[in-house]
Amino acid sequence: MGEARHSKSLMGEVALVTGASSGLGAQFARLLASHGAQVAIAARRVERLETLAAALSADGADVLPVAMDVADEASIQSAYDQVQARFGPPSIVVNNAGMNARGLAVDISAADFDQVFNVNVRGVFLVAREGARRMIAARQAGRIVNIASMAALKVLPGLTAYCASKAAVAHMTKSLAREWARQNINVNAICPGYIETEINSEWLTEEAGQKMIQGFPRRRVMPIEALDQALLYLASPQSHHVTGAVLAVDDGQSL
Ligand code: NAP
Repeated sequence: MGEARHSKSLMGEVALVTGASSGLGAQFARLLASHGAQVAIAARRVERLETLAAALSADGADVLPVAMDVADEASIQSAYDQVQARFGPPSIVVNNAGMNARGLAVDISAADFDQVFNVNVRGVFLVAREGARRMIAARQAGRIVNIASMAALKVLPGLTAYCASKAAVAHMTKSLAREWARQNINVNAICPGYIETEINSEWLTEEAGQKMIQGFPRRRVMPIEALDQALLYLASPQSHHVTGAVLAVDDGQSL
């Protein structure tokens, strides 16, 4: 952070990262801040955001923690209002908040199914829509990066709602990219393979999880930094001509 080893390629950019209270979102926030962006970090667990913001600020970053429940439209709008008041409208939105619900399709409840879609699909849509509205109103170009999953590309057993939700995110990415092309808002998706975080750490330590890893071409999960370069590229103006892309960064796990 803050040292010469990072270029300040994102200086002048304002980024919003959802689901930044843990795992990949916290990593994306660190990454974007270390490249000079002003970063708003959003999630429901505000105390965790404050701890992360304090650590990044101590390294010289300009970081704003904001409460956001992506299942609640009013909460999304209020978070964007706070970001805009502090930094101006975001030019980068990392739509990362997500959840899963494990269980066989015959067992999963309608409420659990709805919750997964509320967060992973409706939430991603509402966060992208609000970001695009503000970019368009400010006549400003921007990049939206949706974090889908290899589950959009390959069936993961026992995760029907999750797989369907991530496939929806991948296709919605193309739909939004098409619609906002003339406004210079790029919308792309990354489909990560397995990286150990709170969403999967229990499963990965179980016997079935370990067996799954042994079935991957490289027999391993990826480190938390595995998505850094893909995220940086899609978040930066250098990816100007890339929109509607759905990029697997999965160590070959979906093959
Ligand atoms: P994680 O550590 O469990 O993080 C999930 C994040 O989403 C948390 O910060 C959580 O924050 C936030 N979130 C959940 N529900 C929310 C809601 N209603 N409103 C706002 N924020 C909400 O898992 P992760 O691995 O970092 O996951 C990040 C994204 O990557 C997810 O979309 C996931 O599907 C995707 N992904 C992960 C992997 C992997 O192997 N780790 C692979 C492919 C895709 P709060 O609880 O504080 O709100």
